[in-house]
Amino acid sequence: MASAEVEPFAKTGGLGDVLGALPKALAKMGYDVSVVMPKYRCIPDEYVSRMALLEYYYVHLGWREQYCGVFSLKEDGVTYYFIDNEYYFGMDAIYTNHDLERFCYFEKAVMSMLANQSYGGFDILHCHDWQTGLLPLLVKIEGLHVKTVYTIHNLQYQGIFPWDSVWDLLDIPFEYFGGGSIEFYGEVNFMKGGMVHADAVTTVSPSYAEEIKYPFYGEKLEGLVQSRGDIVGIINGIDYNVYSPTHSPYIEKPFGIADASAGKAKNKQLLQRQLGLEVNPDAMVIGLVTRLSKQKGLELVEGVLDEIMQLPVQIALLGTGDPHYENLFRHYAYKYPGRISANIMFNNQLAHRIYAGSDAFLMPSLYEPCGLGQLISLSFGSIPIVREVGGLRDTITAYHKRADGTSGGNGFTFFAYNAHDMLYVINQAVELYADKPEWNALVQRAMSCDYSWARSAEQYAELYQRIAPTPGQTASSGTDAVVSV
Ligand code: ADP
Repeated sequence: MASAEVEPFAKTGGLGDVLGALPKALAKMGYDVSVVMPKYRCIPDEYVSRMALLEYYYVHLGWREQYCGVFSLKEDGVTYYFIDNEYYFGMDAIYTNHDLERFCYFEKAVMSMLANQSYGGFDILHCHDWQTGLLPLLVKIEGLHVKTVYTIHNLQYQGIFPWDSVWDLLDIPFEYFGGGSIEFYGEVNFMKGGMVHADAVTTVSPSYAEEIKYPFYGEKLEGLVQSRGDIVGIINGIDYNVYSPTHSPYIEKPFGIADASAGKAKNKQLLQRQLGLEVNPDAMVIGLVTRLSKQKGLELVEGVLDEIMQLPVQIALLGTGDPHYENLFRHYAYKYPGRISANIMFNNQLAHRIYAGSDAFLMPSLYEPCGLGQLISLSFGSIPIVREVGGLRDTITAYHKRADGTSGGNGFTFFAYNAHDMLYVINQAVELYADKPEWNALVQRAMSCDYSWARSAEQYAELYQRIAPTPGQTASSGTDAVVSV
């Protein structure tokens, strides 16, 4: 697998989570899995100190010859490779304003590894998101006997660049720049390249796989999605060794389903103290852990935040992104002291503490390819309040009472992208929160949901088996000089 993000080494969102968990789940099933990513400076020292330099070589990038060191580290049955080049990756940020050259370089470095038999030969290259989008094409051009899978984690970020810049870096023959290949309104689109040239294309939920056939969600690629016709939606899982209130390395008072009520109360109190919220067990704490972007439906929150604050609730927000939303939440934290806490930062520890200490988790996304926040919140017994879209629709069912008096569902949902529809279900949640036996039963149901990787990994495994190259054929041919050390 090739990706720009892999947890626990470097992550900005769900992509990193998936690459942290899926390879391990496949390794557990007996697959031989390697993951390659850039060696960013932000990778924690505890991992860097365990890496070994395997080899170095030079990557042809247009007229340039760039150094490439390959470091490696083995963990939980997975081999991780790290592409080292200080010029491209020697900064803390995973993404910068110069990502075209950085990720073209990364793709070329991966190509050299694929062609190098000393890695044991790869059968399948699984690429993720735009940063690895041209790899399926490069594999074709080089004639490597490697099958390719391309996964769309978010169709909004496509990697669109002027064609002459791409040409200058990648030496792709001119005939591949056409509309049936990587051309997109006069430019080059990396994601489109992956979608056209990979042997199999997947995305991260069945609903999103349907939605992107239509212009509202298709980001101008809906025609390609329709004509390809075989894009499979496989829902993401989460790693319960990390994302559970029993195993989380970050929460102070671990708990399980059996002591959920007391455990959540303790964590809520700690969270309220830590964030300067009033320590009040009766206020329903609504958590938001999110990128602050339009995708996440924050304009709905903006539209009715004053009305939400009329209810007996508190808000614990953790996120970074669009300065408009960063300032909006700062403003509201100032307006409602002790009731809204705005934490404008990226912080894993606080994220876990919010999942553990909040009663509900708000995720009113405009669109959501899969969404991990709602799965993590289920695991920590924080009840998701979500819009019925994409992966949210596939994983959260609305709370309901049946005729026989029993109840079902694992969250609260609304359909229309409308702030008052959202407010309506927040109201419903607040009302139910006051009914402790019913609320506690809902928390138990949420915590019992199983979104582990096992089932999803099996679906990926089936896909790999279906496209796997005939035995005996392995990657061959390569152009870059390799120096083993
Ligand atoms: P996306 O990938 O679109 O950002 P997901 O819901 O799929 O959204 O995944 C988001 C992941 O990133 C979750 O693990 C979430 O807890 C985490 N996350 C988002 N923002 C922050 C933050 N500011 N600090 C820590 N973790 C965050």
